Amino acid sequence: MVLGVDAGSTTTKAVLLNPATGGIVASHYLRTQGDPVASLRACLRALAQQVGNRRIGLIGTTGSAREIVGAYLGTEYVFNEISAHAAGAAHFDWEVDTIMEIGGQDSKYILLRNGVPIDYAMNNACSAGTGSFLEESAKSDLGVTVSEISSVALGAKSPVHFKATCAAFINSDIRGAQQQGHSHDDIVAGLVYAIAANYLTKVKGPRCVGRKVFLQGGVALNHALGNAFAHLVGRPVVIPPHPELLGALGVALLTLKRSTASAEAGGELLSLAAPELERVGRFACHACKLYCSIDRFKVGGRVFPFGGRCSLYENVWKRKSRTAAARDLVEERTNLLFGRPAGVPANSPAFHLLRHRSSNSGETI
Ligand code: ADP
Repeated sequence: MVLGVDAGSTTTKAVLLNPATGGIVASHYLRTQGDPVASLRACLRALAQQVGNRRIGLIGTTGSAREIVGAYLGTEYVFNEISAHAAGAAHFDWEVDTIMEIGGQDSKYILLRNGVPIDYAMNNACSAGTGSFLEESAKSDLGVTVSEISSVALGAKSPVHFKATCAAFINSDIRGAQQQGHSHDDIVAGLVYAIAANYLTKVKGPRCVGRKVFLQGGVALNHALGNAFAHLVGRPVVIPPHPELLGALGVALLTLKRSTASAEAGGELLSLAAPELERVGRFACHACKLYCSIDRFKVGGRVFPFGGRCSLYENVWKRKSRTAAARDLVEERTNLLFGRPAGVPANSPAFHLLRHRSSNSGETI
């Protein structure tokens, strides 16, 4: 089996893919609640409940927490969300050329040619075209839960036209519409139109809308949004099956394509979910003058460094998963350069002199 995990900021998605058929055998979708590793472990246990404690030969991760979840699972197959969503969409329809992906806190636009992403855009620190904009305004001002938005909006007769292009001002617009006597359904439908309009203005911007348009991500579970987009862009908009799972499906497919290993051997779902992620230490990286703080994590006897602004330590744990039995010369060099030589106390002038010399020259001492 191939495991695909999409560890997003709002939700965590996991799918089990049958490598022979390319079909989804089991899946789970839950709220991340600020702890991607705990959510991943809950997903793995839920998958085991659905299909038994299957062996997982290949694992791929994507989403904003893809690195820590990938490190926890010990896989080198970590892909960005653009590649994962593009692969998931192209699996359903090779002709898709435009993907509008809307998640809880971010939104993306992807342009594809022959199934390959050739351009993309993301929301830039603005929540106006995202799921949280819709979810929070519908809940706090109108008492409509996220799963009710679609049916309420589809019952509207004349959606309200909101001017607000900023999440900070939508609440006063909603109260204004209520005071003007607009119906509850029309206000909810107006919010759905507002998220589509905000996405088109702020995320897609001047980029083109192609001939085959997919709407995906958790927010696409709201089918009223598909209607609003189709109306605004003037062409059909397809919501593929399981739009919330396409990132996880895509990363499972990419992993299967890139790996030469067997998808049949490997650990069982429950043993993958068993170990705790423990932080066993922290040190300052001296590879450059940013002095990033690097955590040392332990998972089931495996210790790896994690963090920093560049990919230095990411490369260390990814290489470890690839060549667990081989000597890690990069780590040995780092220990030689920045570790304390045996028998030299941390407060000794000799230790500081060695560190100073190694930071400046970058040469092995
Ligand atoms: P992430 O951005 O973490 O990858 P998703 O793509 O799953 O998350 O999107 C999460 C958003 O999807 C939630 O904020 C919520 O607004 C929306 N959503 C989740 N479930 C539903 C549902 N049943 N109907 C409508 N919207 C939903």
